[in-house]
Amino acid sequence: MGDLLVTESVSKKFGDFTALNEVSIRVPKGSIFGLLGPNGAGKTTLIRIINQITMPDAGRVTLDGEQLASHHIRDIGYLPEERGLYKSMKVGEQALYLAQLKGLSKSEARQRLKIWFERLEIGDWWNKKILELSKGMAQKIQFVVTVLHEPKLLIFDEPFSGFDPINANLIKDEILKLRDNGATVIFSTHRMESVEEICDHIALLDKANKILEGRLSDIKRQFKTNTFEVGLITSNEEKLKALIRERFDYSPADFKSLNRDLKLNIKLSDSETSNDLLSFLTNHAEVNHFNELVPSANDIFIQTVKKHK
Ligand code: ADP
Ligand code: MG
Repeated sequence: MGDLLVTESVSKKFGDFTALNEVSIRVPKGSIFGLLGPNGAGKTTLIRIINQITMPDAGRVTLDGEQLASHHIRDIGYLPEERGLYKSMKVGEQALYLAQLKGLSKSEARQRLKIWFERLEIGDWWNKKILELSKGMAQKIQFVVTVLHEPKLLIFDEPFSGFDPINANLIKDEILKLRDNGATVIFSTHRMESVEEICDHIALLDKANKILEGRLSDIKRQFKTNTFEVGLITSNEEKLKALIRERFDYSPADFKSLNRDLKLNIKLSDSETSNDLLSFLTNHAEVNHFNELVPSANDIFIQTVKKHK
């Protein structure tokens, strides 16, 4: 399908401070692309460059193969990190106004807004003033306004901050639906744990540099260590451990289970498979839990940052 957005060696300094150092990313069409990294890594700076709010010092950005230009602004829906709404305006008025700025007619905007407001269960807010809304509520309105004109690229800067878990999940589901309907999505976050389930692709930024990029499943495959988390039921734990120790490396595991089983992480050599382990274990105990340990984006990030230093 190709890439919708490409940045090539994009650099940006603020005075002597380097905010981005030759950052290249490729965002495949139809993907959900997670721009991950700690606070200050450069995520917002890159997003602002893609939205032509900040100019890069060097490097190139292309959208759908074309050098980025001002007419591309209408192809992008952008939810900024700092989100401001006019406090004294009413929710409906404001949403209509912002939608018209994106090029929708008033009647089209009203129609689409009604549908979205019902969907996100905020239909009752139409006549409320913005200043009556909580931060999370205001954020829902801005989310709607960002996606309303159905742009091909959606960019959400820290979309989950400010939401409680229920609303964060709601927004996650909406992001997945937008992707399923053909949009390409870039979102940034400094919280790796909760969002990796929705990314197909990620790039990790740290201190102005991109230190890792790719399809999340490929990256996870590269980082996995052939380690299995097992729960074993036995009448003689010491004897069982001694048997396992003769053949495998293991360490205590920590997971929840209803049984008082022996919980271990068992590492296999490269030549051994899960079936080798499973048939060994079933000979000596009742296997109650068996799960491959796949590194989280957070584990991968910490490991990569350490190596990068
Ligand atoms: P992130 O979004 O990953 O948290 P940012 O892109 O916002 O990071 O910021 C990266 C670094 O660049 C930070 O150290 C920030 O202080 C600095 N920075 C961002 N914008 C400016 C600016 N306009 N002037 C000076 N420094 C800036
Ligand atoms: Mg930021």
